[in-house]
Amino acid sequence: MTFPAGSLRITTAELATGRNALWLPFLQHPERSGILTDFDGTLAPIVEDRQAAVPLPEVPRLLSALSARFAVVGVISGRPVSYLASRLACGPRVILAGLYGLEQRRGGDLQVHPDGHRWREAVEAVARAAEQGAPEGVDVERKGLAVALHVRRRPELIVWAEGWSTEQARSRGLVARRGRMSFEVLPPLPIDKGTLVEELATPLDAVCFFGDDSGDLPAFSALRRMREAGKATLAVGVASPEQPGDLAGAVDLLVDGPEEAVALLAGLAG
Ligand SMILES: [Mg+2]
Repeated sequence: MTFPAGSLRITTAELATGRNALWLPFLQHPERSGILTDFDGTLAPIVEDRQAAVPLPEVPRLLSALSARFAVVGVISGRPVSYLASRLACGPRVILAGLYGLEQRRGGDLQVHPDGHRWREAVEAVARAAEQGAPEGVDVERKGLAVALHVRRRPELIVWAEGWSTEQARSRGLVARRGRMSFEVLPPLPIDKGTLVEELATPLDAVCFFGDDSGDLPAFSALRRMREAGKATLAVGVASPEQPGDLAGAVDLLVDGPEEAVALLAGLAG
């Protein structure tokens, strides 16, 4: 893995000994700090079959441990909450946010954005059209209030996926969003990982977010805005061979893959 000049490398040894000043606000006042993270590519290694993605084995217990120490602990993903819940058997204090925040499980209760339901039919129509018309090798993932087209098995189709998703979204009043080797179509609601990070961070003095992909960039931008407003924030990028070109410039530090991300989180859990 090569890291661009200027990005800061941190080791778990540094974290464990508290030598890295970046983490001091979190370690000194965990009761006023939040730990937020993406799922795929951050807690779970990327695999070709999306439905086979599982977090590293220690992750569920680790999230529970973090939630016993920190004020807010949450996983914010493009996946549906049902998928996250089925792979993350962690305690009810861990917030699971799916579809970029359109769905959230807090304290065991599932909440769906009140405006989400009126877009369900339009999203369903896109899913049907994709299943009927997508080229061989494109995997269509139905997520309820969103549908994603994955081209991991045929990366050359990313251009097709972009054009098709953009046109479908435009014609049905939805929005298209790029993911890691994918495009997805969602309701046109003013919600992304950034708005949710900002909401969850409101009562906190310090907040961090771990992520690897373009869908995480709004969260990193939100951290920067909050830092300018006086909050302690830390943006942790998870490097990969597929990382978007603008990831490194958006984060405070880069770790190498889910293994290092999870090791860092384990250091924070103490
Ligand atoms: Mg990810």
